[in-house]
Amino acid sequence: MIRSILMRAAAMVALGFSGLSGPLDLHPRPAVAQEPLRVVTTLPVYADLVRAVGGGQVEVSSIANPNEDAHFVRPKPSFALDLRRADAFVTTGLDLEVWVPTLLDRAGNADVIEGGPGYITAYTGITLLDIPASADRSGGDVHIFGNPHLTTDPLRTIQVARNVATGLKRVAPDRADVFDAGLADLTDRIHRHLFGARLVELLGGSTLERLALNHTLFEFLRTQEYEGRPLIQLLGGWLAAAEPFRGQQMICYHKNWAYFEDRFDVTCAEYVESKPGIAPTPGHVARLLQRMQADELNVLLAASYFDRDKVEAVARRGNAVLVQVPLSPGARDGIDDYLALVDVWVSELAAAFHSR
Ligand SMILES: [Zn+2]
Repeated sequence: MIRSILMRAAAMVALGFSGLSGPLDLHPRPAVAQEPLRVVTTLPVYADLVRAVGGGQVEVSSIANPNEDAHFVRPKPSFALDLRRADAFVTTGLDLEVWVPTLLDRAGNADVIEGGPGYITAYTGITLLDIPASADRSGGDVHIFGNPHLTTDPLRTIQVARNVATGLKRVAPDRADVFDAGLADLTDRIHRHLFGARLVELLGGSTLERLALNHTLFEFLRTQEYEGRPLIQLLGGWLAAAEPFRGQQMICYHKNWAYFEDRFDVTCAEYVESKPGIAPTPGHVARLLQRMQADELNVLLAASYFDRDKVEAVARRGNAVLVQVPLSPGARDGIDDYLALVDVWVSELAAAFHSR
């Protein structure tokens, strides 16, 4: 607050108004249109959340494109310039985007480096999975602080959106109402898509969210009744659509799906990569194909940024149905936002399990 008053004062001095009589106007007229905040995100999925929370008060760009592997992005030099002018920057905050520190150094914008008001981390407040016993990169593992692919769980994605709202309010407290309204709207839409509108209207999204996070939602819905019917019959949305793969096992290409597995009760029994970020060796693939045959693991889930030919070859040799889907909106026509993205994950996976 003090900083922005000082900046406004400095601007008035620069414009030659300092000699004019009268006090400094600390209450600008609300009729004056405000410039949108300039926000840069590492990933397109974060940009989508910033748009949902910030509405017309933000102008957002993503460094990675929707078909890029977040671990291995080569940022264009122009992004250092964008970051130099940015009011806020959204990054995972773990080791997903190892290319971020160099970019921040080049940008030289104190507002958006760690500790600055505009530095926003997606992982804050999120219960991480796959935390290794020791942080060790020697084997080439690219997930040394825990699984960084947070947004494969719609409920953890709500927490990412909360972190975005908190950060934007820190940068522009005078627009808090806009950000709170954007967050509330997105949260409600995710709740309705996840649980179905009927249950949300009956029990409220936050109660359902709490039950789901505690893994007691299904027990609750099966044992409680409403108007003589078990509540489970009112379940809709993604959780209902996920029925064909609930409790099932599949093969995954990379450890992209830990939070999706947690939310939808489906398991990646094996990975095509021998370790996260390490390309499969022939020996590893041979063992994988044996396991797929022995345990009838016949669905393969992969993010769309992995080489289609390689992924297809493993699916074909293992006699598996391939589901290759983007991890970010904008990667395919018709996947314009986060909700449409999860629609595709759930519907394509359900169809694959149905067809095997
Ligand atoms: Zn990863």
